[in-house]
Amino acid sequence: MGEFELIRRFFTRPTRRAALGVGDDCALLAPAPGMQLAVSSDLLLEGRHFVSTVAPERLGHKALAVNLSDLAACGAAPLGFTLALALPQVDAGFLEGFARGLFALADAHDCELVGGDTTRGPLAICITVFGEVPPGRALLRSGARPGDDVWVSGSSLGDARLALEVLRGTRALDGSDFETTRRALERPMPRVALGLALRGIATSAIDLSDGLVGDLGHVLAASGVGATLELDALPRSAILRAQPPEVQRACVLAGGDDYELAFSAPPRAADRVTEAAAAAATPVARIGRVDAAPGLRVLDGDGHEVAAGLRSFDHFTTA
Ligand code: ADP
Ligand code: MG
Repeated sequence: MGEFELIRRFFTRPTRRAALGVGDDCALLAPAPGMQLAVSSDLLLEGRHFVSTVAPERLGHKALAVNLSDLAACGAAPLGFTLALALPQVDAGFLEGFARGLFALADAHDCELVGGDTTRGPLAICITVFGEVPPGRALLRSGARPGDDVWVSGSSLGDARLALEVLRGTRALDGSDFETTRRALERPMPRVALGLALRGIATSAIDLSDGLVGDLGHVLAASGVGATLELDALPRSAILRAQPPEVQRACVLAGGDDYELAFSAPPRAADRVTEAAAAAATPVARIGRVDAAPGLRVLDGDGHEVAAGLRSFDHFTTA
C-alpha cells in the first residue's frame, strides 16, 4: 500500500464543517465570524510519550486527547485537526485500530481531521488542533490573582503515573486495579466541556500534562503570584490511597499525564464554578489558595510543608 492509498483508506472521510478537508495542498477551515483561532500542537514519540505495547486504538485516542486538552485549558471549542505521521511500515491492523480510536474521540467532540502528512520513519505522531474562542474570552495562564481559590478537575489525580510505575516495574497492582489506572494513562478524557463552562468564571487555567506542581508553577509564574495547596484536598482514587504515603504524594503532585484542568477563581465565584462543573458533568475540587508571595507551598494534614524532594519525580528513581 502506497502513501496515498494509506491516506485515502484510513484518514479520508467526508468533510463536515471545514470548507475543504483532506486532498488538496491546504485545508480550509471556517471558524464562526469574529472568532479567534486557538491552535496547539503535540508531538508523541514512541519510547518517550508512549510504550510500544499500547493498543493502537488507545494511541489514536490519546494522540488527539492531549491536543483537545490544550483547547480545554484555553476554553476553546474544537473545530478540526491535522495529523502528521511517521510510520516504520504500513501495518493495516495498527492503522485500523489507531484510526478507530482517533475518530471516535474526534466525533465525540465534533472535531474533524482536515489534513496532515505521512512519511516513513520511527513511529511519531504530531497533531495540530484548531479551535475557536470569542476574542478576550480565552482562559490564560496569566490571570490568577492573590486570594483566588485553586481548583482541579477529576477524582483520580496521579492514577496515570501509578500505571506508568507498574509498567516500569517499580510498583505492583492487582489486575483490575492496574487496568483502571492504565485506562487513566492511555485513555484520558479531555475536559473540553469544563473549559468552555469556565469561560468568564476562571481567572486562569492550565491542563495537567507534566504534573500538578510543575504545571501549576507555570500559571503562578505567568501570573506573578504564588500558591498554597492542601495535600489532603487533592482528589485521589481508592487505588492510589492504598499506596504508601510517599508514593501517593509523588503521583498526585508530580505524576504527569493526568490531563485534568487546574484553574483559579475568586472565592465569590465558587458557586458558579460548581454549577459549571455540574453542567459539564465533571467533578472539581478546591485544593488551595493563590498567594501574593511567589512560590508553591504544599501543606500536609498537620499544616506542615511537604518537602520539595517528596514532590518530585526523583522519588521513583531513588525508591
Ligand atoms: P503535499 O505534498 O502537498 O504536502 P501530501 O501529498 O503530503 O501533500 O498529502 C496529500 C493530502 O493528504 C493533503 O491534503 C494532506 O493534507 C493529506 N494528508 C497527508 N497525510 C495525512 C494524514 N496522515 N492524515 C490526514 N490527511 C493527510
Ligand atoms: Mg507531504
